[in-house]
Amino acid sequence: MLMLSLFWQIYLSFLFLTFLIVFFFSRNALTNLPFLELFRTAYAQWIFLLLAEAALSFFVSWVIQKPLKQIRQFLLSKNGKKPDLEKYMNRSDEIGALTSTVLKTFASSDAAIADLTSQQRYLASILENLNDGICIVDQHGIVRILNQAAKRMFNIPENAISGQPLIETIRHYRVQELWQTCQEKNTQQTMQIETSPERNYLQCIATPLEPATEGNILILFQDITRLHQLEIVRRDFVSNVSHELRTPLTSLKLITETLSDGAMEDPPAQKRFLAQMEKEIDNLTQLVQELLELSRIESGLVPLQKKSIAPSILLADAANRMQVQAERAGLEFTYDCVPNLPEVLIDQERLEQVLINLIHNAIKFTPPGGKVHISAAQKGDRIIFSVQDTGIGIHPKDIDRIFERFYKTDRSRSQSGTGLGLSIARHLVEAHEGKIWVESTVNKGSIFSFSIPIRQ
Ligand code: ADP
Repeated sequence: MLMLSLFWQIYLSFLFLTFLIVFFFSRNALTNLPFLELFRTAYAQWIFLLLAEAALSFFVSWVIQKPLKQIRQFLLSKNGKKPDLEKYMNRSDEIGALTSTVLKTFASSDAAIADLTSQQRYLASILENLNDGICIVDQHGIVRILNQAAKRMFNIPENAISGQPLIETIRHYRVQELWQTCQEKNTQQTMQIETSPERNYLQCIATPLEPATEGNILILFQDITRLHQLEIVRRDFVSNVSHELRTPLTSLKLITETLSDGAMEDPPAQKRFLAQMEKEIDNLTQLVQELLELSRIESGLVPLQKKSIAPSILLADAANRMQVQAERAGLEFTYDCVPNLPEVLIDQERLEQVLINLIHNAIKFTPPGGKVHISAAQKGDRIIFSVQDTGIGIHPKDIDRIFERFYKTDRSRSQSGTGLGLSIARHLVEAHEGKIWVESTVNKGSIFSFSIPIRQ
């Protein structure tokens, strides 16, 4: 469509009006001269008239165009300096009305944009600070949003940009499968996956985002590694307890069967079997007691009665209690304590229990003729208690696991014991803000140590 500038529109209107007037008058009253004759005789006045009209048109169009241009500039300029439109606000004509409409619309859209921006920032910061991973995938399988938690879970660099296909972003084929099933069925889908190499367990829930955004799917990743581990621990615990209970129970059943099959009539055999029964019952009692103890300690039901005490007292008490047992096992038992060690704030009974557990193990796993030595010394702001033996030692593959519940090394399976002692010891030491560890060489011996902070 032909677009004429304002100037030409006004100018042509003037010209048209002039010709109409002249034509009308030339035909009627004022003169008998025909129209062309009139132009020929007075062309100088004609040119003057046309020029005057041009000037007038220019002026009128300039007056109208100026505010319109400024309004246009105002609307087009983004962040730069905007022309001042306030001066047109008081005009009572259309320009005034247009200016006030533009300014009002602009103010309200400005507020709406600011509102939207702050909401967007709010949502973005929620997304980024969520512990759960969030991934939004469009209908073509392109990742539109991926928050930091999701990046962490799948080992994706923090600065990775979205806009890549899902399978290239999250390199796990089961996530791709989940998204595909969700897209096909258009219903929520759930699955659990294991990431590698971190071996974390994730619960993934894919939900179609319809009708808000058609074809987009939200995938939520929840880290359930801890829950999964707890489930494994629970399962192991039940199987370990049943296993530990089965041995003495089977043994007791066999003894009672043998007794009722006639051994009752044979007094020496009867005596032997009764002694065996007593041993099995002792084992069962120890297992139940240690289990109860462990569960009480783990659930924080054992309040510590802390008091300030010299490390030498703790060491001497434990040594006195275990001396006879060690000698009976044919071991050389010694202890030494650096004099004047600073006091420690501890539950004496509980930490003595830890020391006795360690000494008991040292005696149990050291063949006759060996040595057991206990000591205490200061290292930095801690007192280190150690129990050293010259026994069978622990294989490096078992070292990290012996503080776990029920863990026994292959070599100690034949020995009595529940596999709970070290686990209880670790809990008690940690309750004192301490650490427990072991250094060991197979067939040479072990040193079990634990550290307790010095009383400040
Ligand atoms: P247990 O009742 O079987 O002794 P613990 O928790 O005290 O249970 O010990 C766990 C395992 O650690 C033992 O079964 C044994 O295999 C190993 N262990 C503990 N102390 C020693 C030690 N001084 N020398 C060799 N092995 C040890």
